[in-house]
Amino acid sequence: MKKSSLFVVSLLAVSITLSSAGFAGRKQLGNDVVWVKRSATYKCCVQQAYLNGMNRLRDLVKDKKPGTWCVVLDADETVISNVIYQMAGLAYSKKSWNDWCKQAAAPALPGAKEFCALAQELGGKVIILTNRQGDLKEVTEKNLRKIDFPYDILLLREGPYAKDRTKVMRREAIRKGTVKTLPAGVKLPPLEIAMLAGDQTHDLYDSYKLNFEDIKERFGRDFIILPNPMYGDWASPPMYADPGIIRARLPSRKKPSSGDARPAPGVISWQEAMDKVGENVVVETEIVSVYDPASRGKGGPVKLNTSRDWNEGLTIILFNKDGSFGDPDRFNGKKVRASGKIGTYHDAVQLTIGAPDDIEIVEE
Ligand SMILES: [Mg+2]
Repeated sequence: MKKSSLFVVSLLAVSITLSSAGFAGRKQLGNDVVWVKRSATYKCCVQQAYLNGMNRLRDLVKDKKPGTWCVVLDADETVISNVIYQMAGLAYSKKSWNDWCKQAAAPALPGAKEFCALAQELGGKVIILTNRQGDLKEVTEKNLRKIDFPYDILLLREGPYAKDRTKVMRREAIRKGTVKTLPAGVKLPPLEIAMLAGDQTHDLYDSYKLNFEDIKERFGRDFIILPNPMYGDWASPPMYADPGIIRARLPSRKKPSSGDARPAPGVISWQEAMDKVGENVVVETEIVSVYDPASRGKGGPVKLNTSRDWNEGLTIILFNKDGSFGDPDRFNGKKVRASGKIGTYHDAVQLTIGAPDDIEIVEE
């Protein structure tokens, strides 16, 4: 047997051994989970966030009376890590999530215990404010006790706060001293929230009302944000690959002259369309985000948003039940021209498109 044939045979033997050991067909984890599980940079980011937070906390509370203030931290991916659950590679389900939580096996994230211990030492209460539901109260407490986590109050999404996904109600109750889900015999006076920590924007502020621009200074003051590439509100609706995206940005591409950039006569901007309720209009606008309920297994119209703050902008509505508009995500990030009637739904102003021909992409 030639040397090269021997090499091939040996490679084959190695691959057969690996296959029989169970490597074949194993699902490769995404870079998001691998980064959190394996990289030093993830740990460094978390440690850095808490160390910086500790420095700011000392300064922020130096003139505050002990017992009058607190720090509010989210639980998952903020003070404890669930990367082991993510490593199972399962699609999220309440059952698989609850099964994992019941193990009470989530370890503390770097720096989190030190930050909370410092807050207590400086005279503050540590409140863990989580969107875990009430049925996970005992196991969550058990988990925190197991890792010796320094905290005072655990507030879950339960009872009168069952729908408080934004955490706004519970933060308000903390400030007013009216929390309704405290353990028997425990009282909490009105507390100033000195700092907040979380891996989602709603852990820190009312993300339905405020934009990044409104709160960006607070990341150097009373906000601590932790990285979480594995899940979050930002993950939906899905984004799709766009093979033309680089070609479309090549400098050789003919750029529209300033004259071309102006909408054609009779075509108006979305801002102008906001004042045309009841009228038929032609609008030219960039689509900044697309909400397609079908991609979440839900019914209802597709919404094309013209403003990041979708409450404030014009929403273009398509009824895409039969799929005649194609994949709505193709409009995402594109300039479109759309014609239809302006109406309102609750307080939102909408342009409803009747047929696929009534909307076209005018600029890639
Ligand atoms: Mg979280």
